[in-house]
Amino acid sequence: MPTPAIDDDMRFLRRHELEAALSDYLDCMQRAVAEGADIVATWKAQRQNRSMKRIVEELGRMTGARERCMFCEDSRGTDVEHFWPKKRYPEKSFRWMNLLWACAGCNRCKGDRFPCDSSGKPQLIDPTAEDPWDFLFYDPETDELTARWNQRTGKEDPRGVMTLEIISTLRHQAVAEGRRRTRRNLERAVRSFLSNKQEQIVEELLESIADNDGYGLPSWFFLRDGSDEPPFVEVRRQYPAVWKRIGKHLRGHGPGPAREDTTAPPSRRPG
Ligand SMILES: [Zn+2]
Repeated sequence: MPTPAIDDDMRFLRRHELEAALSDYLDCMQRAVAEGADIVATWKAQRQNRSMKRIVEELGRMTGARERCMFCEDSRGTDVEHFWPKKRYPEKSFRWMNLLWACAGCNRCKGDRFPCDSSGKPQLIDPTAEDPWDFLFYDPETDELTARWNQRTGKEDPRGVMTLEIISTLRHQAVAEGRRRTRRNLERAVRSFLSNKQEQIVEELLESIADNDGYGLPSWFFLRDGSDEPPFVEVRRQYPAVWKRIGKHLRGHGPGPAREDTTAPPSRRPG
């Protein structure tokens, strides 16, 4: 059986390279804006453009077969979201690196809210540029997210706090319920592997991880803090080769190494 592809999941999403013709199209539109074209009208007029439609498809593909929202991972994405809002930052409006894929709910939550710190760094997490697990913490007992605790500063990570405040969908009960279901499926698959352990079962485990790739939970349990949680920790301890194989698949799509100074808290249309 071929090894299934695992879409590592709010999860880190490796941005696809855009083909040259589409990059050229975006450059051309960006020039028009630089030369004074109204951004809102220009963006709206481009919605039906064939190149724009292909760019929208490419964004959807980046999130996997179900084209889920890059923020909440719960609903299907329906809108192109400008990470740097287009009205305030028209100079970034047709930049590929600035385009995300979001559901209507997250798009509404974000709107034009885009706080930056004193150095001009955005406080919202960009899931295509950084690993959300560097800023957020998942509690498997409640299936809720909190900002990561930073031991060095003795505070919650400010970008984690701000992201949870802006994208309030991440705290919706229905989204926590989705995480719960995904976690349980992953736990079941791991328990089944632990009680069988033949080669066939390794493939089944990989397949289950690929099928339950939502909410960044595979990377949480197999690459990050969740690797100390039962039953995942048993795979790590007893089957290091299998553990390594899972990690390799996840890293193929996903985040880099964990930051060292952080730990658990004490306790389709262009829009
Ligand atoms: Zn969403």
